[in-house]
Amino acid sequence: MSARVLVVDDIPANVKLLEAKLTSEYFDVISARNGPEALALIRDARPDIVLLDVMMPGMDGFEVCRKIKLDPAVAHTPVIMVTALDQVTDRITGLEAGADDFLTKPVVDVALFARVRSLVRLKMMTDELRLREDTGKQLGLPPQLAEVESGALAAAKILVVEDRQLSAERLASAFGGRHDVRIEPDIEAAGRLLSDGSFDLAIISLALREADGLRLCSHLRSLDVTRQLPILVLVQEGDMARLARALDIGASDYLMRPVDNQELLARVRTQLRRKRYADRLREHVSRSMALAVTDPLTGLFNRRYMSSHLESTLNRSAETGKPAAVMVLDIDFFKAINDSLGHGAGDAVLREFAARIGRNIRGFDLACRYGGEEFVVVMPDTDSKTGCMVAERLRRAMATEQFDVGTGPPIDLTVSIGVAACSGTDDTPDALIERADKALYTAKREGRNRVIAAD
Ligand code: GH3
Ligand code: MG
Ligand code: MG
Repeated sequence: MSARVLVVDDIPANVKLLEAKLTSEYFDVISARNGPEALALIRDARPDIVLLDVMMPGMDGFEVCRKIKLDPAVAHTPVIMVTALDQVTDRITGLEAGADDFLTKPVVDVALFARVRSLVRLKMMTDELRLREDTGKQLGLPPQLAEVESGALAAAKILVVEDRQLSAERLASAFGGRHDVRIEPDIEAAGRLLSDGSFDLAIISLALREADGLRLCSHLRSLDVTRQLPILVLVQEGDMARLARALDIGASDYLMRPVDNQELLARVRTQLRRKRYADRLREHVSRSMALAVTDPLTGLFNRRYMSSHLESTLNRSAETGKPAAVMVLDIDFFKAINDSLGHGAGDAVLREFAARIGRNIRGFDLACRYGGEEFVVVMPDTDSKTGCMVAERLRRAMATEQFDVGTGPPIDLTVSIGVAACSGTDDTPDALIERADKALYTAKREGRNRVIAAD
């Protein structure tokens, strides 16, 4: 993962040190010597993350942070405050200024890389969501980002895996009832609980008396449901070897004992935000996939999807020797409805028409809106005779029951349908649709409200 990191510190030696560490991990590093310079660089060079020294002459780190978080153009850039060791008040001031995380000097490599990676991943997700949000806006979709960004995270489900009761209770109480926290001392049971996918975060002690927390981490990373679950590990002070193993295995972040409550809350907040973004992105993907293959007015599949489906249907027919049929439906005198009752009434008719198709075909038949007031139904495993029977059922379903148009009395409506079945193994989707279309044309010419089979 590569990212552009801005290091802000008034002491050149500090900048050099961080620069060397980050560059060795292939981050692209830029630097600033003071607050105003940093603010200008953030706007111009758009770093993915800012490492911000607290103590600087003139404008201190807190003020720089506040200014970043107040500027909508760059407010989503994560900020890590670099504070002097054990300055708890600094951490609180930093959080209040909007900082996303802390590092204490002297900066330890594992801590630095874990924090930078975690926050850069979070930022990449935000960037991706922003991009999709823009696309969505262009398509007239409602915004979804605001709710994740508005800071206040709804209550989350957190599992604390710890077999020292006192320590477990202390952790749970640090949340002050903000989240739904459950304690589980046994890792087998914890693994089972987490694998139902309902938890938002796991906090796992690496100093369990009865078991190895690392084993649970690696188990969680091997399962599909928990591969993306945020995991915070609790490390004994100075146990850098186990910490390095944990991060290697895929722990998202860590806390060193003794646990500082402010730090716990800040890290949990970052992990939860990341999870919310990831969930939102996944939802977004499935929704845009649905949008890409369906017709928004009727909810039926669109022409593009039907074409590729018809192609695979014909391929399978060629392999199995089973027949397949299509019908093309065109509403009779539809233009007259638009003209006399308005476009809204026309849309209502199209929706109801589509719904009736859906109710009168089999589950494995596929209905699509082919264009305007034309529809296509693909029927696998169906010969011409059966296809005509289904078409006749649809014709009757439209003609025998009037259509509601929202305003005014319901109206009569009929449909003309052409049916074609595939012949031989070298039939193509286009040829099949064209034959059905010709039959449809005949149905129109012979007086409409009828079904005609090709040939
Ligand atoms: P025929 O019996 O010969 O099929 O006559 P028709 O009036 O149904 O056919 P024509 O192709 O002349 O008119 C189709 C009309 O469908 C014209 C067009 O404005 C309307 N139309 C196409 N798409 C939509 C839509 O999404 N909503 C509405 N309300 N009307 C649409
Ligand atoms: Mg038409
Ligand atoms: Mg028509």
